[in-house]
Amino acid sequence: MGEFELINQYFKRDTSGSSVVLGVGDDCSLLQLPAEKQLAISVDTLLADVHFPADGDPEAIAERALCVSLSDLAAMGAKPLWFTLALTLPEANEAWVSAFSRGLFRAANTYGCELVGGDTTRGPLSISVQVMGSVEPHLAMKRSGAAVGDLLFVSGTLGDGAAALAVLNGSIKVDDESSQYLSGRYYHPEPRLALAQTLAPLASAAIDVSDGLVADLGHICKASSVAATVFVERLPLSSAILKCAATPQQYQWALSGGDDYQLCFTVAPANIAQVEQLIAAGLDATNIGEITEGKGVHCRLIDHPFEIEGTGYNHFD
Ligand SMILES: [Mg+2]
Repeated sequence: MGEFELINQYFKRDTSGSSVVLGVGDDCSLLQLPAEKQLAISVDTLLADVHFPADGDPEAIAERALCVSLSDLAAMGAKPLWFTLALTLPEANEAWVSAFSRGLFRAANTYGCELVGGDTTRGPLSISVQVMGSVEPHLAMKRSGAAVGDLLFVSGTLGDGAAALAVLNGSIKVDDESSQYLSGRYYHPEPRLALAQTLAPLASAAIDVSDGLVADLGHICKASSVAATVFVERLPLSSAILKCAATPQQYQWALSGGDDYQLCFTVAPANIAQVEQLIAAGLDATNIGEITEGKGVHCRLIDHPFEIEGTGYNHFD
């Protein structure tokens, strides 16, 4: 048995009794999609020293790789079922792989999905995770469903990913509690799968915030041929961010920072009362704006245009 075949042993586990008819080990897996459901599928590749530090904790890297992909299933309103993994390693380092598989399966267990195939090769460290899930055809939250008059919401808090990077690279200093919270948000992003299941019957469009609110909301606007106005003073910010920066910086992180993996979604007038009721009952979401005619994302702070750093504009097409 070759060293990489040995490594592959770390990714085998019993999948009997699940939707996996035939799991890892044959030429293909055989998977049974639930009746009347569509397959939602998405792949992400993470490169060492581009998307994560090459010498980072392999458990956290694995967890993050799977969670980032699962966030795309959440954005579509899909339930995770399976995933595949293509791992390129500079060397067959058993300790690294053992820790990596621990993190991977911990996240897989948390979110209820099964590894159904993969490949290991030698080369510069990179991780590709392809996730598959099921969605009822009429409940898929496409980017193209937003319409003029819809309200705009976002889950959780925004800007934590960007603030975490600033802390990790030493450009800002925060107290221990905030530092712990922010690095947790960065290394253990939580795909909003449960929230997405609640929203799927009510939202007209959705996207996960991976590249920054304004950029990702811009994709909804483009796909739906509408514009969006974001009321900057309404942006939900964590107490860690409120403590570690002044308002212009907080807002910039929330608008253009990436790695938040929250859901940005729109709701048609007929469903707004129901969503507001859910929020009043504890649903983790905030109304931050509205969908209007035109194009691009427009940011306003207390009735004045708010300029997004780096663009020189107060809107983003
Ligand atoms: Mg996405």
